[in-house]
Order: sequence, then C-alpha cells, then structure tokens
Amino acid sequence: MSFVFCPLFSGSSGNALYVGADDTHLLVDAGMPLKAILAALDGLGVAPQNLRGILVTHEHSDHIRAAGALSRKFNLPVYANEGTWQAMADKLGEVAPRNQRVFTTGQDFYVENLGVAPFAIPHDAAEPVGLALHARGRKVAVATDLGHIQSGWMRAVSGADLLLLEANYDLNMLENSRYPTVLKQRIRGRKGHLSNEDCGKALCALAQSGVRTCVLGHLSRENNLPELAYQTVRDALLAQDVPCGAGFRLDLAWRDRVGERYVIA
Ligand SMILES: [Zn+2]
Ligand SMILES: [Zn+2]
Repeated sequence: MSFVFCPLFSGSSGNALYVGADDTHLLVDAGMPLKAILAALDGLGVAPQNLRGILVTHEHSDHIRAAGALSRKFNLPVYANEGTWQAMADKLGEVAPRNQRVFTTGQDFYVENLGVAPFAIPHDAAEPVGLALHARGRKVAVATDLGHIQSGWMRAVSGADLLLLEANYDLNMLENSRYPTVLKQRIRGRKGHLSNEDCGKALCALAQSGVRTCVLGHLSRENNLPELAYQTVRDALLAQDVPCGAGFRLDLAWRDRVGERYVIA
C-alpha cells in the first residue's frame, strides 16, 4: 500500500508527472515525446498498459504532446474539462469516445483509489487547472502555469503533504533574454507564468499552511537555472524563518530527466 509521486519531466519544454496509489497509476499531463515518457515509466517499473489514465491540466503542447498517442496505443482514458477538450481536440488526434472523460473544474472525482480535485488557475489557456490528488488521507498538489498568486489556487494547494509548484523564470534573465517583447510580456503577465520570486513568496505562506515538501517545477530553459530557482526560493523561505531541512523539504524537478520518487507516508 503506497502513495507515490514522481515528476518524470517538468519544464517549459515538456511536462509529465506520475502519481500512483496502490494499483491506481496515473499520469498528470503527457507533454513529452512518447518514447521519453515510456522510458521514464519503465525506469519507475510502471507498465504503460497498467496506467488508469492521463489527467490533462490544459491544452498547451508542453502538456499534451503524447497524450493522444498514449491513449490510442494503450487504450487509456484522457481526463480533461470541457474547455480543454474543445481546445485540444484537433491536437490530440483520434481518441476513442469511451476514453474521452470530462471533469468539471471545482468538482472532485475519483479514478479508482485516487481522489482528484481540479481547481482553476490563471493562465492563457481555455480552461486551465491545477490538481490536488488525494489518497490514504494524504494530499499531493500540482500547480504550474500560474500567471500570478491568487487566493483560489493557494487555498486549493494549502496543507498538501507534497506540492509541485512552478518556479518558471528569473526576472533579470527574462528581461535580458533575446525573447521578443510581446513574449516577455506574456510570460510575466497575469496569465503567464510564476517567477522564482513569486514562487518564494507563495511558498512562505504555504509552508505555514502545512505543506511539508515542495518540488520546484516547470522551470524555463531560457530564463532560469535550477540553482538560481532553488536559491531564490530558499532565500525567501529563510527570510521568513521557514527552515529548509527540518520539517520542510525543498526540492527540484528536472526538465530533461526523471526526478525523485516520493513515497507519501
Ligand atoms: Zn501552459
Ligand atoms: Zn506549461
């Protein structure tokens, strides 16, 4: 009996997370090439045909790249809300009607042993969500692609035993990057992504709410560095007297390789 979470890939170039409770194995997003996701699952010892489905947060390609192919190849249900289904229908390719599952943002549902609570997030997609996943009285929350700190998603992830939270960009790196101005504005806009600084700010409050482990994720390849994200958030926590190490763990997920396998006890 176990509740396991593992970020397979997390970053602006692609996202796929594994979550499992006993025999219920799920993916949160499948935004990497099929081969990469299959290799990562193999490393975890999870056979793709034993997956119970793919939960999709929103239709951007860094979240859905292999979702259609996985569904077709292994007969997997794809779970998304109505807005996301409409927006991604032509990107996914054919998904069998029986595997098109629709959830409602704000309404909890179960996939076998796992409780799923989708909550709204501010992002420039049709109907983007973060997810809180419940099993065995524990809670894992995933919140990336967050335009700004907002009480709704903060409430939804509070108290999570493990939280994967976005630390997308360093403001200086973004300002000085070669990105066109309009793209810079999109990223730092209210429906773009969360900076390292804002991630640190949010996490100070969330650590007080009972979050015990935070994994920083969805880092930008161009406008961030893992050490910089980690240090910025850690400094913000220490400035608020949140001790990293004792009782609160800060970790990183990786863009291009499988992260830690967490057992939530
Ligand atoms: Zn997105
Ligand atoms: Zn994304």
